[in-house]
Amino acid sequence: MSRVVVIGAGVGGLAAAARLAHLGHDVTVCEASESVGGKLGLVEADTSSGGFRFDTGPSLVTMPQVFRDLFEDTGGWPRGLALEPLEPLARYRFADGTAFDASSDLDEHCARLDAALGDGNGDDWRAFTARAKRVWDASRGPFLESPLDGPRTIARLAARQPRDVSAIAPGRSLRSLGRRHLRDPRLRTYLDRYATYTGSDPRRAPAALAAVPYVEQAYGGWYVTGGLHRLGEAVRDRAVECGAVLRLGAEVVRIERTAGHACGVVLADGEHLPADVVVANADAATVYGSLVDAPTAARRLARATPSLSGFVLLLAVKGRTPGLAHHNVLFPSDYDAEFDAVFGDPARPVPDPTLYVSAPDDPAVRPEGCEAWFVLVNAPRHRTADHGEGRGTVDWRADGVSEAYADHLLDLLGERGLPVRDRVLWSQVLSPADLEERTGAVGGAIYGTSSNGASAAFLRPANRSPVPGLFLVGGSSHPGGGLPLVTLSAQIVAGLVGPA
Ligand SMILES: Cc1cc2nc3c(=O)[nH]c(=O)nc-3n(C[C@H](O)[C@H](O)[C@H](O)COP(=O)(O)OP(=O)(O)OC[C@H]3O[C@@H](n4cnc5c(N)ncnc54)[C@H](O)[C@@H]3O)c2cc1C
Repeated sequence: MSRVVVIGAGVGGLAAAARLAHLGHDVTVCEASESVGGKLGLVEADTSSGGFRFDTGPSLVTMPQVFRDLFEDTGGWPRGLALEPLEPLARYRFADGTAFDASSDLDEHCARLDAALGDGNGDDWRAFTARAKRVWDASRGPFLESPLDGPRTIARLAARQPRDVSAIAPGRSLRSLGRRHLRDPRLRTYLDRYATYTGSDPRRAPAALAAVPYVEQAYGGWYVTGGLHRLGEAVRDRAVECGAVLRLGAEVVRIERTAGHACGVVLADGEHLPADVVVANADAATVYGSLVDAPTAARRLARATPSLSGFVLLLAVKGRTPGLAHHNVLFPSDYDAEFDAVFGDPARPVPDPTLYVSAPDDPAVRPEGCEAWFVLVNAPRHRTADHGEGRGTVDWRADGVSEAYADHLLDLLGERGLPVRDRVLWSQVLSPADLEERTGAVGGAIYGTSSNGASAAFLRPANRSPVPGLFLVGGSSHPGGGLPLVTLSAQIVAGLVGPA
């Protein structure tokens, strides 16, 4: 049995703790904050109309089989945890007023595209989906379910399966793949949005991200009854049932080494916790920037473009909104201007962003006759004195910046057909600076590094660090961010550590 310390109780850290404890290791999870879940956070609000519960991060679960695997491998599906399929997946509205409801049934989806955008769009999407399936089939095993071994992974694949490499189309962007298959600019905009699922700009993100809409359609989009934070709680419970010890309010300030090998951690109060294996779920930029001395890994990470952040409005809303789906996406007229603002130099809050509104029709999260809105727009990261100078950052703590932007978003919601201002009972702003403060994500970058650029996947930190005995798990390491991928990263790390 090895002593394992996991730094951070995000979903990746908890899933790794559950798997490693189930394998027989002696696992302690040190979480800096007083709650688990990391970016999968929860905010509760009491109003004169009753209580509201808001998920502060993820609102959509994809690839449910990843969670089934986690729970089945560690003792079975948790009692009381229910995933609900979403139909429609989301309601999309374009700047010209056309709208369509995305479906996970491909035939239905294509029929709706024909009806909303005009004949031929369904066939275009069907052809694109066939292409995207090739990407998924080729990339799933070597890239998502295995530890990445730098460009050697591509080289090995090229030697064994050259057709798989051509399916992934290294060097081609998601934008360019979309242009090749999709004629309607609105359908291209719809595809472009999937680049943001990895915190990226569709003009620079790789064509391999075509797998994201494919996966959403093939395996569906899901909601967790009661709110997505319940998934984080279920993974926490599983880790504890398997024997992991959870320590909240336990910030790790240093990873200790002996003869180069990770041998424990030091907490902020000076306590030393010895370990044979350290698994870091903290942001990789923090791990290599301050927790451990690994200059080559730090330099490599600095070459990647960090992921975009998000600006969130939580709104407790009185009354019900006709035509509001569970997930709603309201596109602006100039989508590229959004990415120019977010990744630009200087960056700025996006003046006319895509508005995403998630309003689950779930009595567990809102009182009768009310709605709990989670409004999210893409945003540049937070700039601080310590880090984040330069491209893609804004000082979200500067006087009035976040407040003025929140007010602007309420105006924009009205302009795009959702005049909600007069119905707001309670609201809270979560800026990129708040995201950083709450979760330790440097600058509030949601996904660690973005997928911008051909080498981005290889600049993302590997799960096996250059420090023997130190492993990285979670959204800022391989295979990337998003609930399913961080859960897969835990599976990879458990495989690398092996049984006790
Ligand atoms: C606004 C928003 C919307 C999103 N939407 C979706 C979505 O719809 N679907 C989806 O699948 N994903 C979504 N995501 C992404 C998803 O939430 C993340 O990829 C995932 O939750 C990250 O998990 P993680 O394992 O990397 O840990 P994190 O959530 O990053 O947690 C890391 C934990 O480590 C702790 N920590 C950090 N440093 C230390 C330290 N030194 N000592 C001790 N503890 C430390 C932190 O406090 C934190 O609890 C969204 C994220 C955000 C912010």
